[in-house]
This record gives sequence, C-alpha cells and structure tokens, in this order.
Amino acid sequence: MANQTIVIIGGGPAGIEAAKGIGDLGYKAILIEKRDRLGGNPDEQQYAALTPDLRNAEEALNEMIAPLNENPNIEVMYNTLVTGAEGEAGNFTIKALQLGKEVEVKAGAVIVSTGFQHFDPGRETQKYGYYEHDDVITLTDAEKMLKAHNFVRPSNGEKPKRICFIQCVGSRDRRIGNEYCSKVCCGMSSKQAIEVRQLLPDCKVFVFYIDMRMYGYWENEIYWPAQEKHKVNYIKGMATEIVKKGDRLLVKGEDTTLRRPMEVEMDMVILAVGMEPSEGTKQMASIFGLKQNQYNFIETTGGALDTVSTNVKGVFAAGACTGPADLEDSVSQGGLAAMKAIASVRKAALATA
Ligand SMILES: Cc1cc2nc3c(=O)[nH]c(=O)nc-3n(C[C@H](O)[C@H](O)[C@H](O)COP(=O)(O)OP(=O)(O)OC[C@H]3O[C@@H](n4cnc5c(N)ncnc54)[C@H](O)[C@@H]3O)c2cc1C
Ligand code: SF4
Repeated sequence: MANQTIVIIGGGPAGIEAAKGIGDLGYKAILIEKRDRLGGNPDEQQYAALTPDLRNAEEALNEMIAPLNENPNIEVMYNTLVTGAEGEAGNFTIKALQLGKEVEVKAGAVIVSTGFQHFDPGRETQKYGYYEHDDVITLTDAEKMLKAHNFVRPSNGEKPKRICFIQCVGSRDRRIGNEYCSKVCCGMSSKQAIEVRQLLPDCKVFVFYIDMRMYGYWENEIYWPAQEKHKVNYIKGMATEIVKKGDRLLVKGEDTTLRRPMEVEMDMVILAVGMEPSEGTKQMASIFGLKQNQYNFIETTGGALDTVSTNVKGVFAAGACTGPADLEDSVSQGGLAAMKAIASVRKAALATA
C-alpha cells in the first residue's frame, strides 16, 4: 500500500504553507526543519517589516505558523537534517539526523523547500570592502538595525547623516556567473530607505541603481512614495569602489545618466545583496537526484505552467530553492506543491489498491 504521508523539507514560508495546505486537506504532513524554529530566512535574518506594506514581519510569521500547532495532521521535526533518501513515488524512506540521532521517516511524496542564502558580499566583490569597512553593511544587517529601531553607524554608534544603497550586489553580474535578477532587492531597498527617512528625518538617503525593478503593484506601493513622499534620491549610477575618507566612506563610480565620474561621501553604505541557493537546497538536489539549473537552483520541469514538479516523480520543489522568489511567490508555490503532492499520493494509492 502506497504511503499517504507527505514530508516537507525546510520550514520557511514555502514549507509552512505547504504543510498547512496538506494538513487542512486531511493528509498527514511531516515538516522537517534543521533549525529549532520555523520561519526560514525572514525569521533567521530578523526581517523588521515586509515589503510592500511594511507589515511587522514577526507578527506576520507568527500568524502563518500558529495554525501548524493546532492541526493534529501536522508534525514538525525540529533540529533535523535530511542525510539520505531512497524509494520512489508512493514509498520514500528519508533518513535524517535529529539532534545527532539517526531517524527514518516514510512518505509517499516529498516537497523540498530549503530556500536560499544571501550573497556573501565579500566574495569576488571586495571592491565594496564589506569585511574592511564597518560602515559598509548589507540589507540584512540593516534590517536587524531597523527591527531594533537603532539605525546607527557601526563604526561609532552615531546617527548617519548620509547613506546610500548599492543595488544588484551579487546579482545581474556576469563576472561572477549570477546573471539573474534577485527580484526582491529593489523593493527591499526602497522599503528600507523609507524606514530610514521615517526614523531619521535629517538623514539624506540615496539609491544607486542600474535600473529599478519594481514589478506589479510595488511601483505604486513603494517606489513612488519613496521618491515623492519620503524624498529618497534615486541615482542611475554604477558604484565601482568604496574607500575610506577621514571617518567617512567615499563611493566612487559613474553617474550613468550624466555620463560622468561620480565621487560621493557617505556615512554608511548598504549593499543590496541578492539570492543564491542555500547549502540545504544543493544537498537535497544531490540526495534526491533533482536537476539543477546553471545557478544550482532546483529546476522545475513545467515552465510557467507547473512551477513545482521536478524531474523525480513524487518529489516537488517550492519557494526560493527553485530560484529568486518573494514571499508571494514562495507561499503560492507552497500551496501548489501541497496540491500536487496530495494528487501524487492519491494516484499512487489508487494504482496499488
Ligand atoms: C534581503 C532580503 C529581504 C527580503 N525581504 C522580503 C520582503 O520584505 N518581502 C518579500 O516578499 N520577500 C522578501 N524577501 C524574500 C523572502 O525572504 C523569500 O521569498 C522567502 O524567505 C523564501 O521562502 P522559502 O521558504 O522558499 O525559503 P527560506 O526562507 O530560505 O526558508 C528555507 C528553510 O529551509 C530550512 N532548511 C535549509 N536547508 C535545510 C535542510 N538541509 N534540512 C532542513 N531544513 C533546511 C532553512 O533553515 C529555512 O527554515 C527578502 C529577501 C532578501 C534577500
Ligand atoms: S531586484 Fe533590483 S537590486 Fe535586485 S537584482 Fe534585480 S535589479 Fe538588482
């Protein structure tokens, strides 16, 4: 008899939504998470507010997670790392390490939702001096400060008077092989720019961009208000180097609209780091034999019409493990993967009945 349980690996927004959908439809869901908490990157990196509505991230995540605790169909295995798998659609055996102890879980279908990691700005982009200058930080570092309502220069604890964002760090960069757009960083930077202006009205905020990519409603929801209401300065320009000048930072580059070299002094620089597949995503691809694209994200097989099926029958992928994705994409894929996984275990059960 084919197994009706569905295992979800990775408890970020995509995995949470998948587990919730499976449990609500009356099927057994086992959610495996390597950390001791759910919530994925938004929780681990302590996002303050979500794009586009600036909703409190912790509150939104708690709202997502709460139904999991109330549904007896859903089991969460914390501190658990999947180490191997065998079998086929209808009958998988998943091997894992839970707090150092070997455990086995049986499932009819699997959803991989192991997500992404932020690009390390020290890797091949030393020109920005992330590990050299205290006042060069990333979007995630800034998010933590905004969450604490304490946006200050790491070098001296003072409130900054001039800050800038540098877009596309680790994305759209052929030299490092990440030609793709990470999709959320333009929105994130604009959201943070608004938050900084609200918190520190005397601080001038600049965004240096190649071109701003605000898809759908984010244009009206964040981009125009950032400029018109919050007076954030957007400059089409390429920053090529950051050096120290006195106790400030000198950002060198080119203003691409005016086609002239640019040198501007800043108190802080925020690097808009993009997404890369997490180690867990690469490991799951190898354990289950899932096809990966040239950037090592898991390749789904149905193009725009099926965003969760993989080359392995009975194994689905959802969220940022399949490529750059915002919360909306991730949660939508989580729901779709739940539906497809249930259809898969039902079919396997009918075939063996
Ligand atoms: C700087 C930045 C800010 C962002 N802010 C926003 C925003 O405001 N609004 C928005 O819409 N989107 C935002 N995003 C995007 C958002 O974070 C992602 O869309 C979302 O986190 C993807 O969810 P996920 O569940 O696919 O992956 P993740 O959030 O990466 O979660 C993956 C989960 O899998 C777990 N895991 C990994 N490996 C294993 C393993 N081997 N075994 C078990 N578990 C494992 C991880 O611990 C984690 O819990 C932002 C992204 C960036 C880069
Ligand atoms: S979303 Fe914006 S910052 Fe991010 S990679 Fe795309 S264009 Fe660059």
